[in-house]
Amino acid sequence: MAQPIKPPSILELYPEETREAAGFLKQAVPLMMRHDIPPTPLHYSLWYTYSKGSEPELNRRMDKIAKDFNSFPPEAASKLFRDYIIRGELEEAREGQQQVIELVDDIEVDVTRSVSGSRDYQASLKHGLAALQEPLIDDLPSVLNELQQSTQLMHDQQEKFLYRLRSAQEEILTLRSQLERAHVAATLDSLTQVFNRNAFTRLLEQALSSDHQGLALVMLDIDHFKQFNDQYGHPLGDRVLQHVGQLLRDMLPPRAIAARYGGEEFCIILRECFDTASASDFAERLRLKIQSLRIKVRRTDQTLNSISASFGFALAEPGDDLESLLTRADDALYQAKRNGRNQVHPASAAVALTS
Ligand code: GH3
Ligand code: MG
Ligand code: MG
Repeated sequence: MAQPIKPPSILELYPEETREAAGFLKQAVPLMMRHDIPPTPLHYSLWYTYSKGSEPELNRRMDKIAKDFNSFPPEAASKLFRDYIIRGELEEAREGQQQVIELVDDIEVDVTRSVSGSRDYQASLKHGLAALQEPLIDDLPSVLNELQQSTQLMHDQQEKFLYRLRSAQEEILTLRSQLERAHVAATLDSLTQVFNRNAFTRLLEQALSSDHQGLALVMLDIDHFKQFNDQYGHPLGDRVLQHVGQLLRDMLPPRAIAARYGGEEFCIILRECFDTASASDFAERLRLKIQSLRIKVRRTDQTLNSISASFGFALAEPGDDLESLLTRADDALYQAKRNGRNQVHPASAAVALTS
């Protein structure tokens, strides 16, 4: 009597003994974890077959996919499953084939829907097992149960890992913004928002210790500022300093650095500045901007136009260090003050050291 066509037993696809099958699974699971592959029945069967080595062409294609994508796209896994796992034996059993294809599609949807690709696979697995349990043998439920348990374990591990990863990411972000704030507080002058003296000294030292061709140091000091404070009050004096800080930030050429060196004294490091004329030009433009500052006294509505600053500058020369360059710029500033203030003065050339 002719036998009715039955969907092929899962044992026809995987005829190994339980112990042997467990060995292949043990090899398959670490491979899946290495490639970050969600433990679904589809993936299990692919990597199980991979570990078994019964389909060399499948192994070559899986190696290539893992190499090209650095992961394992669900569509690729689904295609391989159709091409290598459900072909042949299932070809005549159209009903069984259709069942598995639907199952594969279900799982794929679940996997794609889930952000981590892992949240829904437990349900998918249960569904898959129910669909595949038709042709049972006695110890199959325990094999499947084991499979389900290891899936649950992997799922729990992934959940924990994701949770730890998320809280670690939050911690890293908090730490990073704290560090950034601390860094800014440590390097910026809070009143004028340009670098503070410490940061400036370090930056100038760094600039001088590198190949510092074309480096100029400009120093400026607000004129008669004590008098200004005495006349209009310290808070208005602070506003003047803030305006000067803003002007400096607005007018800085690329890669230049501005800093508040002391009370009402500022420094600027210019780069790619090869001649006296370029440095003088920059200082002169800044001097005019400061001179044109209009500060409003809020209490009286009076507008002040009496702010000015004096400038000295020096071009770095071979052998210059922090002290020698600062001294020459400061001497030039002193000359500008002596000559009547509100002007720019260049440093005299460095005195060559003779032994
Ligand atoms: P000169 O033209 O010679 O530079 O005269 P000056 O009055 O500006 O110079 P002096 O060094 O005698 O005085 C500097 C003044 O700068 C004294 C101080 O009150 C003022 N000053 C320093 N730091 C601050 C600050 O943070 N805020 C305010 N408002 N004033 C400051
Ligand atoms: Mg001063
Ligand atoms: Mg001054």
